[in-house]
Amino acid sequence: MDEIESASNPDAVNEDAPPESDLERARRDIRNAGFRATPARIATLLELRSAKTPMTHAELADRLAAGGFDKATAFRNLNDLTNGALLRRTELGDHVWRFEAIDMNDRHKSSHPHFVCVDCGTVTCMDDVQFTAGSRRQSETVGEITEILLRGHCKDCK
Ligand SMILES: [Zn+2]
Ligand SMILES: [Zn+2]
Repeated sequence: MDEIESASNPDAVNEDAPPESDLERARRDIRNAGFRATPARIATLLELRSAKTPMTHAELADRLAAGGFDKATAFRNLNDLTNGALLRRTELGDHVWRFEAIDMNDRHKSSHPHFVCVDCGTVTCMDDVQFTAGSRRQSETVGEITEILLRGHCKDCK
């Protein structure tokens, strides 16, 4: 009975197929965004997908340089992947662009708030902090919110 059901369901997952690796997924997502999946672009996306906080261009270029990638192309690739809706670019009040990977399973979700330590500059993603519907309505009377920023002293600096 179970077998018949799963065979007739075209959405059933084929359990014999090997799971797609992070590399394969990055390559596919870059192609779907309309770009050539060059090794540098794949490395950029993989680096940001494994990062726990948004990274600046300089931080990312340093990481990629360790892997033998050209620093000069890093910025162009970051912009390409941002335009392709694979990365999100944020500015947290210090006039430095930071980049983070957009969750492809939840790409219509708007950006989450960030906490910035005013002492050490550490940036933390606050995925669980939500703007209430009431706050959102109220803010729409003022303008379009592009960034929610929390500032304070992190646990290490307090
Ligand atoms: Zn701190
Ligand atoms: Zn974040």
